[in-house]
Amino acid sequence: METKRVSIHLEGINTRDALPPTEKTAECLKDAGELLKKGEIVAFPTETVYGLGANALNGAACQKIYAVKGRPADNPLIVHIASLAEVTGIVRVWPQKAEICARQFWPGPLTIVLPKKDIIPDIVSGGLDTVAVRMPSHPVALALIQAAGCPLAAPSANLSGKPSPTLAEHVWQDLNGKIPLLIDGGPCTVGLESTVLDLTGEIPVILRPGGITREQLEAVLGRVDLDCHSGNDQPKSPGMKYRHYAPEGDVVLIHGSIPEKVEKISHLLCKKEDGKKIGLLCLKNTAALMPMDILSRADTLFILGSEEDLTLAAGRLYEGLRYCDKHKVDMILAEEISEEGIGLAFMNRLRKAAGKKNMSDPAKILSRPDQD
Ligand code: AMP
Ligand code: MG
Repeated sequence: METKRVSIHLEGINTRDALPPTEKTAECLKDAGELLKKGEIVAFPTETVYGLGANALNGAACQKIYAVKGRPADNPLIVHIASLAEVTGIVRVWPQKAEICARQFWPGPLTIVLPKKDIIPDIVSGGLDTVAVRMPSHPVALALIQAAGCPLAAPSANLSGKPSPTLAEHVWQDLNGKIPLLIDGGPCTVGLESTVLDLTGEIPVILRPGGITREQLEAVLGRVDLDCHSGNDQPKSPGMKYRHYAPEGDVVLIHGSIPEKVEKISHLLCKKEDGKKIGLLCLKNTAALMPMDILSRADTLFILGSEEDLTLAAGRLYEGLRYCDKHKVDMILAEEISEEGIGLAFMNRLRKAAGKKNMSDPAKILSRPDQD
């Protein structure tokens, strides 16, 4: 299948503003809406990561998402809406806490889990009795939902297991030839997925940390618990049990104080043998303290951002992981950040990217002879 790639340029436009009504934009949205109405799937930008959307009320269309991504069938999809009025057609109950969250954080990177209506096919909910709903803030995403005339079920537009796409180029790398249309809306501003919040019980529970922080939620809801699957096989959010966000290279987490991090990174870079490639993913503040001759032993250096703006830095994680993949590094040394605010989502994704590989002695990997 040939994948059409169309750009909608948004330079200088605030993400909450309406789209500029150019002919090209209108035509692209009309085409995309037609495809979605026909049961096709379309990749599009959101403020979190690029999404791969289908009509959420059409089970066969949603099945295509799973097939193209290679996504496990029990990992449910988030349903995206463009107006608050649409929730009543999707969920059976709409508690006061949901209303508070929607008024405070929508449109934006918060997904709410509630009991679903029968109109939502089982394939969308992964067989659960609940559905995850979100209103994105990206103007292209909102306009696309309106053009399709239905809610859109959309996971991230990557191959399952790979780092999520935050640039249209990332979607192209994974899905070119597999989908009919990719709408390029430039870089995603948040760069990490939405927070998934379960509001089915008395106490709200974060099932996946994301773009809206626990602190922000607690400020309007009071107590908010955290249950992001630590090792059990039946997490409340099925997606959390899978290995995710994984680049090709082995990810080694670098923790400690800044001087300790500098020492650990230096130690590993000095151990590197010829023929092995190391990528370094760190903050500007840490790189600045590294001796130049040691820093230059890294084959790839990706500066996430600075300690002064961790939200921006966290949003560049996936781009950094994919950048290291592009340069075919054997190992990625990734700096940890504090788990406050957006740091909780960043560290959740980084730990998953590191997976469960035995990294007790990363220096061994650097000197291990190549297989075959
Ligand atoms: P993705 O769309 O790839 O960002 O993943 C969506 C996330 O939302 C996954 O972690 C899913 O497990 C989670 N999710 C979607 N629907 C539900 C639901 N009904 N209950 C709990 N978690 C859900
Ligand atoms: Mg995903």
